[in-house]
Amino acid sequence: MEIRGYLQRVYQELHAHPELSQEEVQTAQYVEAELRRMGFSVWTQVGGHGVVGVLDLGGPGLTLALRCDMDALPIKEETGVPFASRNPGVMHACGHDSHMTVVLGTCLFAAQNKEELKGRLVAVFQPAEETVGGAQGMIEDGLFDQFPPDRLVGVHNLPSLPVGCLGLQAGPITANADSFRAVFHGAGGHGALPHRTKDAIAMAAAGVQNAFAVTQRRTEANYPQVLSFGIIQGGTSFNIIPEKVVLEGTVRTVRNEDQEQMISLLHQAFGSAAGLYGGTYELEYSKGVPAVVNDEQVVRELAQFFASQIPEIKVVSEGLASLIGEDVSLFLQQVPGVLLYIGSGQEGAVNELHNPRFVVPQECLNTGWKALTSIVKGYLG
Ligand SMILES: [Zn+2]
Ligand SMILES: [Zn+2]
Repeated sequence: MEIRGYLQRVYQELHAHPELSQEEVQTAQYVEAELRRMGFSVWTQVGGHGVVGVLDLGGPGLTLALRCDMDALPIKEETGVPFASRNPGVMHACGHDSHMTVVLGTCLFAAQNKEELKGRLVAVFQPAEETVGGAQGMIEDGLFDQFPPDRLVGVHNLPSLPVGCLGLQAGPITANADSFRAVFHGAGGHGALPHRTKDAIAMAAAGVQNAFAVTQRRTEANYPQVLSFGIIQGGTSFNIIPEKVVLEGTVRTVRNEDQEQMISLLHQAFGSAAGLYGGTYELEYSKGVPAVVNDEQVVRELAQFFASQIPEIKVVSEGLASLIGEDVSLFLQQVPGVLLYIGSGQEGAVNELHNPRFVVPQECLNTGWKALTSIVKGYLG
């Protein structure tokens, strides 16, 4: 099948030339050239190096948007494949190369079958997914004002799902991915004379324990929520009680009410810890990307397309939710749609995104292409 060769060629080319978030210059040029060759109108520099391809099909109909991400990671590749990264220290370790590949392959299908299809296909190549901000930038540049879609389907490979399978689940499947920074202010002094200080280390230690305890005991267990600290910083010497200690961490929730409750609980946890030792605290809480919530009706529509057109492909519809962050959620807040997972796990391989030995298997490209073309035929056929 000719398409398999195309997918392989595009994937290997993109994999060999990864670029970091907000630096996707060559990637954007490559995508633009492919789309133009297929006859798409192309809009570049959308929200940074984002590229949008638009193809008007044989007659009036729906507008379907397909979204993929373009950026790679600051990881030194150790896969040993012949098409490994030629950009030292940068690697497509999250499989965004495979996402672009299946969307380009689907664009080729639409271009070759233009007269039998109707409506409009909008291919959205989003930059800066890893650092977050790419989706927001594209929206601010008027992505949906120019080409308002009726449906949007984003894709991501998923190594916890075996290759050859698809993952399609209604409702929330990623988390509100937030960060916070807390500073405990005390009064420094000699380690031998703690009673003359306000011990910021004691405050931070109590703050961590309070936060873990209270977020376990006062949140609703039916809805997943996670609090983790990633930084604890303070002090200069073994016998000096420091003036201040800084904590930083992340909070993951699925529902907005849980997010608000977490903020309130952090204030209480840190406030009581600071108060106990006579100090004060400050908390800066930054809401990150919202949770991806897959639209129930769109999930039903896709499930039906898959069942009728690609019944040989297994579709997993539960157990896919995790507390990662994905900024396709910003698109899905504006357009009914889903984030579709494409299985990329193989027995005996490293099945971990962001790992220097992670490679997307060829079969994942074929499955992804079959899924997206069946969606194109379903909505635009
Ligand atoms: Zn990633
Ligand atoms: Zn990713």
